[in-house]
Amino acid sequence: MDFTCVHCSKSFQSDELPRRGEVCFKCHVKTIRLGFTHGQEDFHGPTVRERQRQTVEQAAINGYNAEPVTNWM
Ligand SMILES: [Zn+2]
Repeated sequence: MDFTCVHCSKSFQSDELPRRGEVCFKCHVKTIRLGFTHGQEDFHGPTVRERQRQTVEQAAINGYNAEPVTNWM
């Protein structure tokens, strides 16, 4: 069967209408890569990394401050 890609308007052939819709393989791969990149940024993004760094720093500060107090008292 012939389909027309909704993204690039190129006709492509497939045995049946793909689950992704009338999207040629090229545009489909592009969409996957975009989604993957976006997901990676969300996971390893600066926000998460910054939050982790702050948590570690705060833990170190808390431990640093707490210990001398305990020892002195
Ligand atoms: Zn296309």
